Amino acid sequence: MRNILVIEDSPLVLKILEHLFRQEPDLQPLFCASLAEAEVMLETSAELFFAAIVDLHLPDAPHGESVDLVMRYRLPCIVLSGSYNEQRRDELLLKGVVDYVLKESQHSYEYAFRLLHRLESNSQVKILIAEDSDATRHYIRHVLAPHRFQLIDACDGDETLRILQQQPDIDLLVVDHSMPGLSGFELVKLLRQQMKRNELIIIGLSADAKGSLNAKFIKHGADDFLRKPFCPEELNCRVISTLERRDLMRALKQAAQFDALTGLNNRRAFYEHGLEQIRRAQRGNQPLSVAMLDLDLFKRINDEHGHASGDSALVVFARALAAAFPDALLGRLGGEEFALLSALDGAALAAALDQLRRTCAGLHYATGAPPLSFSAGIHHGAAEDLESLLHQADLRLYQAKRRGRGLSIWQ
Ligand code: GH3
Ligand code: MG
Ligand code: MG
Ligand code: MG
Repeated sequence: MRNILVIEDSPLVLKILEHLFRQEPDLQPLFCASLAEAEVMLETSAELFFAAIVDLHLPDAPHGESVDLVMRYRLPCIVLSGSYNEQRRDELLLKGVVDYVLKESQHSYEYAFRLLHRLESNSQVKILIAEDSDATRHYIRHVLAPHRFQLIDACDGDETLRILQQQPDIDLLVVDHSMPGLSGFELVKLLRQQMKRNELIIIGLSADAKGSLNAKFIKHGADDFLRKPFCPEELNCRVISTLERRDLMRALKQAAQFDALTGLNNRRAFYEHGLEQIRRAQRGNQPLSVAMLDLDLFKRINDEHGHASGDSALVVFARALAAAFPDALLGRLGGEEFALLSALDGAALAAALDQLRRTCAGLHYATGAPPLSFSAGIHHGAAEDLESLLHQADLRLYQAKRRGRGLSIWQ
């Protein structure tokens, strides 16, 4: 839970903010209607606040004094203003506010909330500023610092490469084109051979007046481009929008790969990683074990205890399976059917599955529901085509079902 200080006197704006805060269970607002009230609040409990949303014009603070107050306490400050003034906006951004949001529509208020959420995640985001001009580097640092990013400096291309090698978890590179040694453009070409877009975001910078560099940067793998001189707001927007795009790409990849209920690999990802493991085993001439697992009489759990209990059984089983086989490739192939690919030999795998069976019998997943039981078919042999390995295991799974369930068959 994060406490947000809101300094605002307009009843209408307060109503909108209250409505939006109700939809944000992790954000707790504390409202002050005047500068005087906010002064008392901050004096007694500034350390309780995560950030502030501040009205630029209040009856007892007509010239943005509320912003200065919040900035004195080093709280991230999002400014709300009823009117647009470009010069005022740049002044405030250079002063170090997070952003200046116009009170014009639902979207602008929602934008303010997006900023609050980003502030939370930004502290985990590392940005490398590769720029040889001290003045520009300091300017970029000054504009990005209020967003709580972790900022790192590099003064030329070689230093940029060295830092990226030492810190592969850097999320975003802001890179100037004209630098001593490797140019920004050469850096982008080089880096894109090693790092994909969702591994490193690149924003190019240049004072080039013609604009041709812009397209060149983007065609060779930069995610965005800024022509110098740029205003603070433009830098902020481009950094935030590329980060949001990256996060969306990661979320899509996650959704395409993992089963939403259990978090295990889905069928597609299991096959994809399975093929890689098989190729590795073939190169090393190593045999592999494959097991197909299926929960017993699962339909009955759904029918007699409800679908939610069935879901809970799947989650509990997947968790136990993952704990029992931390080194194996696991997947939910569909319904209540799971698969496992492991370097263990058949006997060791059968023994581990027996142990899992005992664990499952003692697991609680829904009140009054029967103990969790599963059947398994195991195949151990040369790493050949994944489909036929799974088919062998599946044949044995069916034998296990025919022999009365709750057992594994491997030979
Ligand atoms: P057997 O021991 O022979 O495997 O019997 P079973 O009842 O486990 O097998 P059956 O294939 O008849 O039933 C599987 C059931 O799993 C049917 C389907 O509605 C249910 N199911 C599939 N996916 C889900 C899911 O995501 N959640 C829940 N709760 N049920 C699911
Ligand atoms: Mg330069
Ligand atoms: Mg079943
Ligand atoms: Mg089934």
